[in-house]
Amino acid sequence: MLEARALRKAFGRTTALDGVSAEIGEGEIIAITGPSGSGKSTLLHCLAGIIRPEAGEVRLDGRRVDTLDEDDRTRLRRENFGIVFQFGQLVPELSAVENVALPLLFNRHGRRESLRTARSWLERLDTADCADHLPGELSGGQLQRVAVARALAVGPRVVFADEPTGALDSLAGEQVMDTLVGTARESRTTLVIVTHDNRVAAYADREIVLRDGTVAGASTVGTSTAGA
Ligand code: ADP
Ligand code: ADP
Repeated sequence: MLEARALRKAFGRTTALDGVSAEIGEGEIIAITGPSGSGKSTLLHCLAGIIRPEAGEVRLDGRRVDTLDEDDRTRLRRENFGIVFQFGQLVPELSAVENVALPLLFNRHGRRESLRTARSWLERLDTADCADHLPGELSGGQLQRVAVARALAVGPRVVFADEPTGALDSLAGEQVMDTLVGTARESRTTLVIVTHDNRVAAYADREIVLRDGTVAGASTVGTSTAGA
């Protein structure tokens, strides 16, 4: 469903990705792991159409993503992808429910319908009481669950999460992962998680291990030899 072939991306003299290929199936939960600086975020950004690789291909359902211009990639992202960042990245001036409604409004849903859908997603993620608060009034765990609600509310085909628990203590991290993975499984949404935390990787069906911008290993979690 989502496919990367021989991706290459450099920042100045730093080669972040050096020939990375990966295939991700519908409904799969994938962890991209590896040490800091190994290219995890860059791979996620290429798969999600946020940045363009210098060489190689990214395809969604067989259609090229990387060759689209900026406007078409933005549209493709809005219609197909949800993204969760490490620090939530909510709009600070908008309440939690307005933040969750925003991508629905971008996808041309009406205001009332968007707010209603947003509220029901906050309920689903156990954050109904956060709905009318500004991000600055919420805890780290609440912020991340609101960010997860925002990513899921549009009914995306793929949710990308970049260190979604990186700023949380282990209990809050576990709650965020439980809701993120639980909801992805229920709705058969494909989930791609960048993490350096083994506890987060353990939620995945499969792991793609990067080292120095190349695929160092792949494993089915719990059975095989990551990094061999
Ligand atoms: P990871 O997510 O595994 O920590 P990244 O994909 O963030 O790795 O980074 C891979 C390499 O590319 C690192 O050496 C990093 O410093 C470099 N890099 C990533 N993004 C940029 C950027 N925007 N400008 C310059 N260097 C970058
Ligand atoms: P992580 O590795 O946890 O994803 P980083 O702190 O490495 O986070 O990177 C955060 C952001 O900064 C990313 O968007 C990445 O592309 C960018 N970045 C990483 N390294 C550099 C760098 N050397 N110069 C400029 N931007 C960078």
